[in-house]
Amino acid sequence: MTDDLVIYQNLHGTVCVCGAEKKARQSFCRTHYFKLPPGTRQALYEVSEYPETFRRACELLGLEAPTVEVAK
Ligand SMILES: [Zn+2]
Repeated sequence: MTDDLVIYQNLHGTVCVCGAEKKARQSFCRTHYFKLPPGTRQALYEVSEYPETFRRACELLGLEAPTVEVAK
């Protein structure tokens, strides 16, 4: 599984990367979403390059983007 797939899973899930509740098909919980600059919020609705935009948004928010857990 690639990181991109994990990011899409997060998008369709109901838990924000911070652990708070969010709506499926929204990238973040309300708190984090409204902390983003308007341009970045807009960009999250662009389907192409979504994983890239999402990672950048996480960086802006100081959150760790979801990654694949590698079995050891
Ligand atoms: Zn959050």
